Amino acid sequence: MYFHEAETLERKELEKLQVKRLKKTVERAADSPYYSEVFKKNNLSPSSISCVDDIRKFPFTTKDDLRSQYPYGLLTKPLDEFVRLHASSGTTGTPTAVFYTQKDLDTWADLMARSMYAIGIRRSDVFQNMSGYGLFTGGLGIHYGAERLGCLTIPAGAGNTKRQIKLIRDFNVTALHIIPSFALYFAGKVREEGFEPAEMPWKTALIGAEPHTEHTRRKIEELMHIKAYNSYGLSEMNGPGVAFECTEQNGMHVWEDAFIAEIVNPETGEPVEDGEVGELVMTTITREGMPIIRYRTKDLTRFLPGECKCGRTSRRIDRILGRADDMLIIKGVNIYPMQIEKIIMGVPEVAQNYVIELIKEGFIDQIRVKVEVKDEFFVEDMRALQGLQKKLSSLLRDEILVTPRIELVQHNSIPKSEGKAQRVIDLRDVED
Ligand code: AMP
Ligand code: ZN
Repeated sequence: MYFHEAETLERKELEKLQVKRLKKTVERAADSPYYSEVFKKNNLSPSSISCVDDIRKFPFTTKDDLRSQYPYGLLTKPLDEFVRLHASSGTTGTPTAVFYTQKDLDTWADLMARSMYAIGIRRSDVFQNMSGYGLFTGGLGIHYGAERLGCLTIPAGAGNTKRQIKLIRDFNVTALHIIPSFALYFAGKVREEGFEPAEMPWKTALIGAEPHTEHTRRKIEELMHIKAYNSYGLSEMNGPGVAFECTEQNGMHVWEDAFIAEIVNPETGEPVEDGEVGELVMTTITREGMPIIRYRTKDLTRFLPGECKCGRTSRRIDRILGRADDMLIIKGVNIYPMQIEKIIMGVPEVAQNYVIELIKEGFIDQIRVKVEVKDEFFVEDMRALQGLQKKLSSLLRDEILVTPRIELVQHNSIPKSEGKAQRVIDLRDVED
């Protein structure tokens, strides 16, 4: 029924294990330049911990801290002990890099395999990973989990719908990993190619990497004739395989033998009442090469009360309800509005005002940037304007990895808001 005994540990036993692993984590972290400083400054050591709540004695680690330590400041071992690097998408300037030792990769693959097992995937399944590979952890992270479980694993990568469909049919693919917005689009493509989703061999899908509603999940299930399960993770905590739904489809179990999860008020940093929405804060307790303590994920969620019918004792979190910062996720890629601003403000033809609109093209989320052009450049010459449009679009693509739609408008034509400018307008239908 379960992949690992830790999934059903009694609370007391689990907490004992967490304390032991947290102490070990602090001991290891002290070998990194960053945490050795932090611990010295705050007079912290493994002996500061005698219960799980003692984690609150430790300061938070933020994305800015990680950036300031780029690239090696959090590593506890010499570089030649590491075998893999991933980087978080959606960063202005300095990215955040995460390093893994071979043991870290093994632990991650085990967590991912456990997650897939929890939704009924077995070694007899044929698994197609339809997310992008490369630096994005949804590629290799899920890939190695599927192999660990023993599935025949097809690294199809993103895009190329025709080939995806052929692979699925030719090799009798029963389980998929697919980004939710792509899943909705893909279902239509399958029909266009002349196949009925109900006749496809698939049974189970892992969906995640971007926020989506329960309504969207149900829609994916209906359109694709598949069971879809929410999968949560972030590169700072390995990647996918941090919290995962079970077959109950009622919240995501946090793998608490590998992570300590807290939910705090994003303003004060204090824990919220049980069941209240706040920012998820995560600590790795099994990672050796690059432990991270009390990482502010900026993801908003809450602990779900009560026990899960599946018998797993690890706590569940609600689907991600929003962000505590302004990060957008479009086509599975993290984007900060400031990245867009930085690029367009560097283009001489652009006047000072712009607005970022989130729109839907079919089922797919898209970004449209309306940019004011200086009077002297806003000429009748269509070719010049088209050239500018192309230039902006490709500069932005290089920065945010998604090609936005660009609309050039006359100087002073975008309404100015009083006070704080509203730079992002969400025009996607909430009800999709
Ligand atoms: P990255 O660091 O590039 O792997 O992106 C991680 C971020 O993607 C998380 O902090 C979340 O904001 C988002 N994310 C990942 N999985 C989910 C999910 N299942 N639902 C909503 N957002 C998600
Ligand atoms: Zn469960």
